[in-house]
Amino acid sequence: MTPQGRRRCQPCRWCGREVPDAGLGRRRQYCRQSCRQRAYEQRAMVKGSAVPPDAVVLSADEAAQLSDRVFQVRCAAEDVATAVDEGADGAELRELCDALVRAAKAADGWR
Ligand SMILES: [Zn+2]
Repeated sequence: MTPQGRRRCQPCRWCGREVPDAGLGRRRQYCRQSCRQRAYEQRAMVKGSAVPPDAVVLSADEAAQLSDRVFQVRCAAEDVATAVDEGADGAELRELCDALVRAAKAADGWR
């Protein structure tokens, strides 16, 4: 397996979530039809402006929420590190890892 073998190839260009691999053929750029539609609308909206067509434009609310979710991931990761330093047992580490994975999944995507 290559180092990238388990990593996603490309996030949805609208929401940033993982695009399910359809298998054969060209990889899809959007995870669902509504993302494709909203990306199309944004491209039309920024046309003729200085905003790049593929820019990820977030409202202040969306940006704050993204920042919150990333912060939760950081806290969960720091909890794991602290538990390792303190010699926590396997069961506790497992629990903290589950919490970290949950936080990371919740943070996946920028919208
Ligand atoms: Zn999407």
